[in-house]
Amino acid sequence: MKQLKHAMKPITGLVVVVSLLTLAACGEKPQQQQAAAPAESKVEKEVIVWKLAQTWGTGFPIFGDAVIKMADLVKEMSGGELEIRIDSANKHKAALGILDMVNAGQYEMGHSASYYWKGKDPNTMFFSTMPLGMIAPEQYAWFYYGGGMELMKKVYDKHGVYSFPGGNTGNQMGGWFRKEINTLDDLDGLKMRIPGFAGEILSKLGVVVTNIAPGELYTALERGTIDALEWVGPSLDLNMGFQKIAPYYYTGWHEPATELQFMVNKAAFDGLPGHLQAILVTAMQFAAYDMYARSYHDSAVNWASIEEDYPDVKIRTFSPVIIAEMKRINQELLAESAAADPMFKEILESQTNYMKMARKWTEISDYAYLKDNLE
Ligand code: CA
Repeated sequence: MKQLKHAMKPITGLVVVVSLLTLAACGEKPQQQQAAAPAESKVEKEVIVWKLAQTWGTGFPIFGDAVIKMADLVKEMSGGELEIRIDSANKHKAALGILDMVNAGQYEMGHSASYYWKGKDPNTMFFSTMPLGMIAPEQYAWFYYGGGMELMKKVYDKHGVYSFPGGNTGNQMGGWFRKEINTLDDLDGLKMRIPGFAGEILSKLGVVVTNIAPGELYTALERGTIDALEWVGPSLDLNMGFQKIAPYYYTGWHEPATELQFMVNKAAFDGLPGHLQAILVTAMQFAAYDMYARSYHDSAVNWASIEEDYPDVKIRTFSPVIIAEMKRINQELLAESAAADPMFKEILESQTNYMKMARKWTEISDYAYLKDNLE
């Protein structure tokens, strides 16, 4: 069957039935096709238009680009049958309310980070990254082949959405500080924006922890609402200008493999025909892994020239004493939460056992290679 014309005019929020002018020449032998003039017939075709709410502002690089890439792929691969329109935080005004909006069906899809929902459900935070946990290749292996996807489905079931990996930042930097952090006392009373389980750990060390939407980070730091913050790494931080206020830039411990998140309203996903479900899942997985490569690239490029471009940035690493204390509190808090919640325990054990197994390979492959070949 050969299509002559497309006349699809989608309308937002609706399933639109349109007509495609087609040739009804299927199944005919070549000589018959030559002899008979092709008959025209109308074939009904649905165009489904979805809305996606993202935590990021309009034009936000890397994270927002991953969403655009996913939506473009879906449209292209589905021949225009499924169109996803993106609303940024400037429009919906609920940067940290994406899960609720997708659950309610206000949006069919969302793009955010799973650990932003830890106040609602602590078990969601395992699907972003865990302090002192797996690095990105280990964590991707866990998601797709080590039981991670199944556990994520179990956790998000009660929240009315399907959750999918939505792009990895790679290892993140430990954050921007106005003053050098030399001792544990320097952390006491410090006001810091840091999400996820790392925030729980720092709270125990006296840090006043908060989470703030990305669009408000610079202002919060500038006005002194916070003394320190962590965001991502050189791929995104330098453009935000944090170094102008807080020049001490610490290496990471808290987010070794931050995975963003696509969410799809369950009823909306279940209502899609199978081929569109497959296209959507494929596009999300591609966009997620593509963002990992993009993040690595942008971090590498920006890091290569950081000394020249930003001579005032002071690179630091937390002292062994501070790191040891973070590790101790991490273990203590994880054990407490696991004792109180069987689901927390199940996910923690899955991640811990997987990391223990996979780390041996990481050690003898990447780590051994780097250790022996770094100049
Ligand atoms: Ca971060």
